[in-house]
Amino acid sequence: MKYWLQCLGLAALLALINYYRLQFTAIDQLPVIKQLLIPVVNFTLALILGIRLPDIDLFTPGLKHRCALTHSALVPWLLTVINYPFILAGMAMGMAIHLLADVFPKAWVGGALVKMPLLGSLGIFSPFWLMVNCLFCLAISLQTLVLQEAWSMTLTFALSLLVMLWYFIRKEKSMPPLLTALMIIGVLVWSHYSPDLSWFNLQSMTANASWHQGAS
Ligand SMILES: [Zn+2]
Repeated sequence: MKYWLQCLGLAALLALINYYRLQFTAIDQLPVIKQLLIPVVNFTLALILGIRLPDIDLFTPGLKHRCALTHSALVPWLLTVINYPFILAGMAMGMAIHLLADVFPKAWVGGALVKMPLLGSLGIFSPFWLMVNCLFCLAISLQTLVLQEAWSMTLTFALSLLVMLWYFIRKEKSMPPLLTALMIIGVLVWSHYSPDLSWFNLQSMTANASWHQGAS
């Protein structure tokens, strides 16, 4: 019950902030509020909600722990219809962080397995389910963030990294999820910046390969 109240409280707070924002359009005249404060507050609250939401199955009658519906990209995907990019990006990022941490249980038995309502346990497919949905959530979040203003994008991205580190260190106290997260981030950063670094991108690295010359 307490868990449900916390999640509903966060959702209500988000609704309230954005309702009042619509009522008092004057506050949108200040760039610092419009471009920085509102996006960061929306993102942060949604991020916390996204991290907590999957485990709401523990407190929901009829659902078993690690329910396939709450441990999936379903909610972020549904949220793509609303026009609040920072809420969508925050929720998706929070859920990606939660799902990634869930990919590393002590053993793939019992409570660690993902359960589809009506169909039952996904068994050995559980880690794949979590990983695919985690990447889907991450893609939704990043695709939304890169379309935003540079400042709010950078801030929310940094915030995600901090929260991710805090969550893994506090909750998991183990290295695998942290290393996997760093690996994913590393690949993303590399693929983003490597076109600018002529000495360190895939094309220049393979430029002298025999199959490359054969093609030209
Ligand atoms: Zn979980």
